[in-house]
Amino acid sequence: MTVAYRRILLKLSGEALMGDDDYGISRDMLARIVAEIAEIRALGVEVGVVIGGGNIFRGVAGGAAGMDRATADYMGMLATVMNALALGDAMRQAGVAARVQSALSIEPVVEFYIRGKSIRYLEEGKVVIFAAGTGNPFFTTDTAAALRGREIEAEVVLKATKVDGVYSADPMKDKSATRYDRISFDEAISRDLKVMDATALALCRDQQLPIKVFSIFKPGALKRVVLGEDEGTLVHI
Ligand code: UDP
Repeated sequence: MTVAYRRILLKLSGEALMGDDDYGISRDMLARIVAEIAEIRALGVEVGVVIGGGNIFRGVAGGAAGMDRATADYMGMLATVMNALALGDAMRQAGVAARVQSALSIEPVVEFYIRGKSIRYLEEGKVVIFAAGTGNPFFTTDTAAALRGREIEAEVVLKATKVDGVYSADPMKDKSATRYDRISFDEAISRDLKVMDATALALCRDQQLPIKVFSIFKPGALKRVVLGEDEGTLVHI
């Protein structure tokens, strides 16, 4: 089978790990995600993963509750490290070779992010899970996905969401909403379509790194995206 992409950066939100739960990490959901990743690894695709932390803690919520925002953001980054450890462990149990690298130095727990090492792991067929976002407060893991995606020279950022693409309106609220097969960055930005946050979108656009939005809850969708089949929405230059 010919693949459309040889190296990808998969962005998983923390919420994806909750599955049907209201909080935290669902082991069932983790196993499902790992199985989907194993399928594309079997096709020879090199996989980097940026994981979010919204299922545990978001800096903006801490800020709204009166905390110092930067401190709250560091807590959010630590939440992504927890998710990364859980995902790495689920990969190990499923026999998928994986390494976790963190943008914040927490040396006894995870390896520190070193770009050259990540690329070597990818070439060796290991999945690299990037934790702690960009390592800086006031950013998001979407921006980390754009950044790491560019750094590892991924051909595309695959943004896994609950919905199977980008719609003209919120498909949960508006029945007449239609899905775009393709949309340009400029159009997505001018129509304020919720693809990724503005910083992440601008970085991808400037670096000419396309984004594919698809549903992680749809079985087999990740594989179909990688095979270049009609799935999700491509955000292009
Ligand atoms: N965060 C941050 N800098 C980064 C990435 C993340 O400060 O580079 C913090 C921020 O507080 C954010 C939290 O980590 O709310 C969790 O990340 P995010 O909200 O992007 O997770 P997701 O929505 O994908 O689950």
